[in-house]
Amino acid sequence: MLNRLDFQDLTGSVAGWDAKFFLGILGKLRHLVPMTKFSYSLNATDGKARTGVISTPRGEIRTPAFMPVGTAATVKAMMPESVAATGADILLGNTYHLMLRPTAERIERLGGLHKFMNWQKPILTDSGGFQVMSLAGLRKLTEEGVTFSSHIDGSKHKITPERSMEIQRLLGSDIVMCFDECPALPADKKRIEESMRMSMRWAQRSRDAFGDRPGHALFGIMQGGLEEDLRGESAEALRDIEFDGYAVGGLAVGEGQEKMFNCLDYAPDMLPVDKPRYLMGVGKPDDIVGAVARGIDMMDCVLPSRSGRTGQVFTRKGVVNIKNARHADDPRPLDEACACPACSNYSRAYLHHVFRSQEMISGMLLTWHNLRYFQDLMQDMRDAIAEGRFAEFERNFHETRAQGDIEPL
Ligand SMILES: [Zn+2]
Repeated sequence: MLNRLDFQDLTGSVAGWDAKFFLGILGKLRHLVPMTKFSYSLNATDGKARTGVISTPRGEIRTPAFMPVGTAATVKAMMPESVAATGADILLGNTYHLMLRPTAERIERLGGLHKFMNWQKPILTDSGGFQVMSLAGLRKLTEEGVTFSSHIDGSKHKITPERSMEIQRLLGSDIVMCFDECPALPADKKRIEESMRMSMRWAQRSRDAFGDRPGHALFGIMQGGLEEDLRGESAEALRDIEFDGYAVGGLAVGEGQEKMFNCLDYAPDMLPVDKPRYLMGVGKPDDIVGAVARGIDMMDCVLPSRSGRTGQVFTRKGVVNIKNARHADDPRPLDEACACPACSNYSRAYLHHVFRSQEMISGMLLTWHNLRYFQDLMQDMRDAIAEGRFAEFERNFHETRAQGDIEPL
């Protein structure tokens, strides 16, 4: 056994080593031993808008960040390397879908979600709670958790905070979300209050079940609907438990942009400055810009990929519907300011044709474009915040969109 003197001898001998040799060994070890820290560094603010970097063992996430949604271990119509090429640093996976098919246990046996879907960058998984409430049949909600029937085959399942932590651990998620309940809005204040308090008890149970997992993060989720006092109570409960990041939950559930922004005028300020803030399930480009202006760092939404499959395209000049006959003879690109494959190599006429013909390449190209547009928007915001010109960026963003699509030929 080492006693104090032995320890001094050891440190003495280390100090006597050639410093260059010692640092050389450390340098080599860095490549062998994965960094085990999860951390957030806030690099610049402009008004309430923030830019920074989340560091994880699987790579850095530049914030503000937009997370494409890979519901069933794929971002629909995209190869993972294509998703990375759009500029995405992180994907979102859905616990509810993956636990039902192919199951978390099978994914774990096959080496975890990153290996299974061939995506080596960070993955955030939701807790399953929101989708159980919105998709599953015959739900029964108790203090313990939720029992429900699968939308796939009607089989019975149960998610508790403990089970949600277990599923997200089996998947190998880098950022794990607390299990929470989110009532649809509008709801009366008493219902929102009771639901929020149960979610805070579930947050503590999630924290306890998550345990100590270096390199993996657990985010708490603030609830409280559109009630400022309940948001404050929820934020305080979460801060007491202590999380690696904090989500603003319970928004984008039918309340509309104005009410969402009203809530975001105060909710992010209730959360710790030195931790990432995530707005779940948002949104349209103007929702995203408004959320970043109010201090949000991360967002996710199915919109760019889902719209890509229905012919709805996001451009700097607003939304374009590619199935519209006006594009049939148009040799110009969708968005001449975009460097994605759809805009670089194909005309509006071609994109119109393959959409009308229901060719698979239509969903592939339009999804690629939409994801690239969202990622370019995030990069433009990160640059604007870092350079202290976010207000100018915002003005420009709205003015360019208000111009509308280019004139037909
Ligand atoms: Zn494009």
